[in-house]
Amino acid sequence: MHHDSCIYTPLSNLIMGLRLFNTLTRSVEEFVPLDPEGRRVGMYCCGPTVYDFGHIGNFRTFVFADLVRRTLEFCGYAVTHVMNITDVEDKIIRRIRQTGIPLAEYTGRYLAAFLEDSKTLNILPPHHMPRATEHIAEMQDIIRRLIERGYAYQAPDGSVYFSIDRYIAAGARYGRLLNLKLEPHPEHLRVEADEYAKESVADFALWKARVPEDGDVFWPSPWGEGRPGWHIECSAMSVKYLGPAFDLHLGGEDLIFPHHENEIAQSEGADLQTEGRPFVRYWLHGAHLLVDGRKMSKSLGNFFTLRDILERGFAGREIRYQLLSGHYREPLNFTLDGLSAARSALARIDECIDKLQNIAGGAHAQPDRSILDKFTAALEDDLNIAAAWAVVFDWVREQNRQLAANQATPASAASALATWEQMDRVLGVGRLSANSVPPEVMALVEARQEARKNKNFARADALRNELKNRGWLIEDTPKGPRVKRIPAQA
Ligand code: AMP
Ligand code: ZN
Repeated sequence: MHHDSCIYTPLSNLIMGLRLFNTLTRSVEEFVPLDPEGRRVGMYCCGPTVYDFGHIGNFRTFVFADLVRRTLEFCGYAVTHVMNITDVEDKIIRRIRQTGIPLAEYTGRYLAAFLEDSKTLNILPPHHMPRATEHIAEMQDIIRRLIERGYAYQAPDGSVYFSIDRYIAAGARYGRLLNLKLEPHPEHLRVEADEYAKESVADFALWKARVPEDGDVFWPSPWGEGRPGWHIECSAMSVKYLGPAFDLHLGGEDLIFPHHENEIAQSEGADLQTEGRPFVRYWLHGAHLLVDGRKMSKSLGNFFTLRDILERGFAGREIRYQLLSGHYREPLNFTLDGLSAARSALARIDECIDKLQNIAGGAHAQPDRSILDKFTAALEDDLNIAAAWAVVFDWVREQNRQLAANQATPASAASALATWEQMDRVLGVGRLSANSVPPEVMALVEARQEARKNKNFARADALRNELKNRGWLIEDTPKGPRVKRIPAQA
């Protein structure tokens, strides 16, 4: 139905409509938006905790969310993409205690870094990026409703907890995402309040009472000074920007339980939805990123921030390519060899595009619909990105064959360029034409010129080597230095 609004009219019956794996039902389902007109889509992805630089695992999840959004837009939907910023949380409080930097300044620094890194990866900025510290009132509102409905209680320590037992006892289901069947445990309700702060160990904090270690990180509330729990953040901010019931909720697979389960309990427990609608229609989870086949960890020495990888000379688009190389539900093994392969793959596309550009000149033409149909069909099949890349590389091979046989005309080349432009709306790897040099590479070239001027030849040579490591050759001509991309090995 939504194909009426699709950016082009599909030619073939390959096009079946978008299908996505829903963690809630453990099956691939046809995607049908809540919007009766089938056009608008609300999508929420849990955002970063801004306590440090983002690691490449985090960015796998954000690139996955970007792929979902771009695919929806490619299919003609009008997407509202919301991502929260967790700017108050235990790890953040620990860091500001250690460093003495005020909360807003500390989180502001890492939020800026996160946004810069997202841009490096060509992740489209979400339409709303609400911060937890700016939505305390909305969180308190949901907590109040949960207390009124009997699902939350204030413990002797002053904190407010969500009672899973009371929620289940009222007939609600907890454990839907994991398909757990939890029964109420009335014995927990009998635990002496002065022995345990919580009625039951499974209960989770909605509001954490102020403790001395929190320093000046606290807000007033009807339940005393304190700060919100992490789960309530996402319930409050998703509902504020997308309404009480919305289409898609995304995150890394580690968030399925308890974070997303608790979001459901809070949002549905607060009874915000009308007509028995669920809080979220489709739950999508991205599998984790492994590095050299193992879980990324500081102690294994395989822990990389995005910036670590950039320092090794790789470009954002190469990292994006590798993060987009496998299906989102499969673990992805990140390796430096993989990045070199990404460089070669992209160079193959760049070369082809450059040649097409030379032939097309200023000509314009329609994209090749049969290619776009295949590409769309791959993505519609639960975002089968490997199949989508296969369409791209088969197409590149065919273009190269035509170019080698001198069969390309300005019109055919222009059509091919238009085809690539459409596919790149989803892939977002851009095109690097022979004469576009990234600013960080230009900065190195200029630094080398400066070193040569000062007769610091050791430094000039070091910078030349640095450029080489990044895949750039420098040639000194009478008109000054020229940089060229080192051609990829075939
Ligand atoms: P955080 O900043 O810790 O709140 O995490 C932000 C996002 O990154 C969440 O959606 C996590 O699920 C996701 N994430 C954390 N580690 C990894 C990993 N190794 N691979 C993929 N996603 C991850
Ligand atoms: Zn969340």
